[in-house]
Amino acid sequence: MTSTPKEQATTILPKKGFAPAELTAALEEARSHDAQWKKGRTWSLVYYVNEEHERLLEKASTMFLYANGLSPGVFPSLRQFETEVIAMARKLLNGGPDSCGSMTSGGTESILLAVKSYRDRARTERPQIKEPEILLPVSAHPAFEKAAHYFGIKVIHIPLRPDLRANPKALQNAITDNAIMAVGSAPGYPHGVIDPIEEMAAIARERGLGFHADACLGGFLLPFARQIGYPVPAFDFEVPGVTSISADIHKYGFGARGASTVLYRNIALHRYQYYVYTDWPGGIYATPTMAGSRPGGPIAAAWATLMSLGENGYCHLAKTIMETTRTLINGINAIPGLSVMGNPDMSVFAFTSDKINVYALADLMEAQGWHLERQQFPPSLHLMVTPAHAAVTNDFLRDLKSAVTQATVNGQPAPESSAALYGMAAGLPDRGQVKNFILNYMDNLYKAPESIKNQGLRK
Ligand SMILES: *Cc1c(COP(=O)(O)O)cnc(C)c1O
Repeated sequence: MTSTPKEQATTILPKKGFAPAELTAALEEARSHDAQWKKGRTWSLVYYVNEEHERLLEKASTMFLYANGLSPGVFPSLRQFETEVIAMARKLLNGGPDSCGSMTSGGTESILLAVKSYRDRARTERPQIKEPEILLPVSAHPAFEKAAHYFGIKVIHIPLRPDLRANPKALQNAITDNAIMAVGSAPGYPHGVIDPIEEMAAIARERGLGFHADACLGGFLLPFARQIGYPVPAFDFEVPGVTSISADIHKYGFGARGASTVLYRNIALHRYQYYVYTDWPGGIYATPTMAGSRPGGPIAAAWATLMSLGENGYCHLAKTIMETTRTLINGINAIPGLSVMGNPDMSVFAFTSDKINVYALADLMEAQGWHLERQQFPPSLHLMVTPAHAAVTNDFLRDLKSAVTQATVNGQPAPESSAALYGMAAGLPDRGQVKNFILNYMDNLYKAPESIKNQGLRK
């Protein structure tokens, strides 16, 4: 992440505003420094389809730019879109007639809400539990850790099997009388493998726990991959013990950013998600999700996306994504020294090396404009494959191969390089020290710029 150069930073509200044309030019200039995601240079963060789809998202988003989902009475349009999106999502994920859910701003909010629902259900139905616990595979998304942190729930970590999937035996053994819920991912972010959801959810069900299937990544891709013939294990409401699911529309659903779904097996559980305050002078206040005001754009764009792509469109995209992933996995495994971790089930995977420093490799790739996420335990690099990558697979593999050769020649990374820093952070046994370092880094990253030398616009 880079920030605006100090001497060009804007630090006070301009006395007289700039003209729209000047501002759009400034915005254009600012984004020219961002990663070239449209050219497939990022391997996370952006899920791009094509120009035509981009126009549709733009149109839907701007048409509902001012609409506020806080009031379904004033904006019946948004209520219609949201309930129809939820209806389509629950059908896709084998939800029965009692299944229901909400649209949220993203996977994190979907997960926060699911965890809150289970906590509040336990408070009502199992009041003897004073210190609720969540059973969480170590590969589960940090949004669950965040939820536990926010809502006062203790995390019990579940280790992975050698195939990098959560270990159901370990889950079974970790359940105490304080447990309220367990989690499995379909697939998990770090290695792109699907946890043994059927086995895990059966254990949770037998012990009366909620089970959340995190299909933030897979929810809008796995059903279509299955439909076109890829083997996909049961992961959704088809599995009796699965009581809630998160599925992101702004990932492989290809909607505009700010759109996810959280689904529940039944209405009673969904109700624990709601917040109602009846005694405010401002009126009776009720919200289904974390936000108060809710942007209409992402909701409208999500609806338009589902209606525009349809089953055929999603299957077509799934084919491209799955084939591109296979080409990349085979290509990476064919480079001496590199190996893909585990057996990725979908389109997300990581590779590691026992020969070269992969963080140094990431730096070399970054110099070529390729952005790969760095992972730890062990050091590995992460790829999330989208339709935009189909056209750049050969270029990527060529650049990766030459970067591996260069990393082999260079040996260990220079002490001041970012590779050395990542290596140190991943290797430090004192995680508190790492956390402190990151907190300082964040203070710096987000502090208001100081310079008032130049109050013009970056041109
Ligand atoms: C991305 C992701 C999340 C969180 O979603 P955000 O939209 O980034 O908040 C949760 N779980 C998995 C598996 C993810 O990949």
